[in-house]
Parts: sequence; C-alpha cells; structure tokens
Amino acid sequence: MKPSPRRRRRSADAVGENDRAAATPAAARRVGRRAVTRVMIGIIAVVGSVATMLASRSAAAAAVSLTNGTIVDLSYAYDETTIFWPTEEGFKLEREHGEVTEKGYYYASNKFCTPEHGGTHIDAPLHFNAAGKSVDALPLEQLIGDAVVVDVSDIVADKPDYQVRVPDLRTWESAHGRIPHHAIVLLRTGFGKRWPDRATYLGTDERGAGGVAKLHFPGLHPDAARWLVSEREINAVGIDTASIDYGQSTMFESHVALFAQGVPAFENLANLDRVPVRGATVIALPMKIRGGSGGPLRIIAVVPR
Ligand SMILES: [Zn+2]
Repeated sequence: MKPSPRRRRRSADAVGENDRAAATPAAARRVGRRAVTRVMIGIIAVVGSVATMLASRSAAAAAVSLTNGTIVDLSYAYDETTIFWPTEEGFKLEREHGEVTEKGYYYASNKFCTPEHGGTHIDAPLHFNAAGKSVDALPLEQLIGDAVVVDVSDIVADKPDYQVRVPDLRTWESAHGRIPHHAIVLLRTGFGKRWPDRATYLGTDERGAGGVAKLHFPGLHPDAARWLVSEREINAVGIDTASIDYGQSTMFESHVALFAQGVPAFENLANLDRVPVRGATVIALPMKIRGGSGGPLRIIAVVPR
C-alpha cells in the first residue's frame, strides 16, 4: 500500500515512539514484546494478505471469517434497466456469440460498453480531484474495512432532499460506539427499495440536462463528509442512492471534500437493509480501469454468523 499523506504521518510517529522508548533497558524490553506480538499476529494471519490486514486492525474485524460469514451482495447487476445519471447513456451489452459451433461445442461471448459512473460503482478521488488517485491506483487495503451502517431511512421517508449531517453520525455513535478508524461508512436511506424505478429512485425519469435539475434523493452533507474524513479517518463511504451528494446538489461539495483527502465513494449500493449496523466487513473490488475516474464495482459485506 502506498500510504496517503495522513497515514504516512501516523506511521512516522509510530517509529519515533519506538526509538524514544528503546532508550532504556525496560523500554527496550517493552519494544521487544511489541515486536514479538507483531510477529505473532503475522504468523496467525499468514493465510493471506486480506486476513493479515483484518488481524492488524481491530478485534471486531479479526473475528470476521471470510469463509464462515454470510456474504451479502451489495451490487446490482448491469443490464438495460441499470440506472445511470440523466446525461449518460446506459449499459450496453452486444451479443457476439451464443450458439453451438460447427465443431459441436457451445460458445458464448459478448461485448459491453458502459459509462464509468452508473449502476453500483466506485468514484475514485480522480473524479473530482485532478491530483487524486485513479481507480486502478487505489490501494486494496482502502477498499476493505469495518462496515458502519447509518440508517436514516425514517428521516428521509418524507424528506427526499435530506443530507446526512454530523449530528446524525453522532447520534449513531451514542447508540453504537465510535466509528472506528478505517471504517467503511454506509448510508442506508431506504432508496434502494425503489431500484430500478428511475422516477422514484432519482426523483425523475427525464433524460438529459433537464433531468439533472429535477433529481431528488438524499445524500451526505459536505460538513459530515469533512468530519468523517478528518475526525474519523474513514477508508470509504457508500450510499444506496445515485450520488454521495444529494440530488439537488450543484457543486458536489461532498465529492470534492472526500476526494481532496483521497477517500473514495461507492454509489447505488444494493441490499444495505441486510447489513447490520456494525460487525460486518466490506470488501469492494472495482474493475481495474487504468486511469479510470471510477467504474463498475463488485462489493460485498461479510456478516459474522
Ligand atoms: Zn460516481
């Protein structure tokens, strides 16, 4: 993983502490014990890099077994009904083959064409930050994390233009504990139930620039985006609507705030009602488009049984 500036700062601090601590024999033993602990964690997690990462995070994440948990698919399929921004054309699948050949075996293959930002997809920081990482450059460690599900579906039921604010996140924390470092914060607005009906999911089924002005769906308030990044140092944020900024946004300030700090966003997430408020692990694996500003995303939550 190529650390982001804030992570690099943190690891530099950790090295400094060890150097200072090793100045006395007792402290050197403490450092030695820490080193032994680190080696033990490494041995336990040697089964793979994903397991290593989970073990080095928190006890909660380490308890999640990838093979023993229930897998929840947070991605929608791509087809002709998949929802894209009003200005985009949709997903196109062109059938090339699907027949028994002269030699007697069956052969199928297709071509597809899709905008990067539609359906269940990732926004890489490059989407709103010229210096941000493209989707292929995002470290996988950043795309895996403890799931935190903030359910605002009751609030937004009669407020489609609602923006999730810092007080909502603080209310979540008073009920469920502090949002952990490296968390993947998932906003459950309930709009996923409307998928794939464009008119109710987006607030309009009008296409083109005219449709953009008529978008109505909830999102993350820019203040809350800044707070999650600076005060909670999250890995990523996701939502069950078409955009991390609410439908009526014209400046996309939450996109800008997140991507300025290298935090990607997952949009049009499915099945958030099947992910517990905490305790699950999210694994988000986007299509690795070189230089891509985003792209189709296969994302799952592993829920402990
Ligand atoms: Zn996007």
